[in-house]
Amino acid sequence: MSAVHTFWRTGILRRCPECGQTSMFNSFYGLHERCAVCGTRFESSSGEWLGGPPIGYAIGALVALALALIEGQWSPLGALGLPSTWTIAALSLVATVLCYRPAKAIWFALLYEWGFMARGDGPPTGAPPRAGR
Ligand SMILES: [Zn+2]
Repeated sequence: MSAVHTFWRTGILRRCPECGQTSMFNSFYGLHERCAVCGTRFESSSGEWLGGPPIGYAIGALVALALALIEGQWSPLGALGLPSTWTIAALSLVATVLCYRPAKAIWFALLYEWGFMARGDGPPTGAPPRAGR
């Protein structure tokens, strides 16, 4: 497996990065403590989720940038009579909130690839706990 595979399986599909058999999420934002199939612990220490929000903010900023470029080129919001700055800000905020879950999944895919996840109750080893090792 490669980092691209982990990104796809965990960052996009939001499944366990180790086995891909279960969802990492038990609610819209909440994570299971560990995978029910392979035992990989998703959050080894409290606060590891804090990397997700900056990724979500970056997605929101990219949405705002794209909307600003579109508005600057074709003025679709102005044609609709909407205040472009506030509409872009509101749509960017909506994108940030809606993208929080994928952003969190992308963050945990990175944590897996960087070796911050472990099986069982032991500490992370600094390498992904890939099956068969
Ligand atoms: Zn698993």
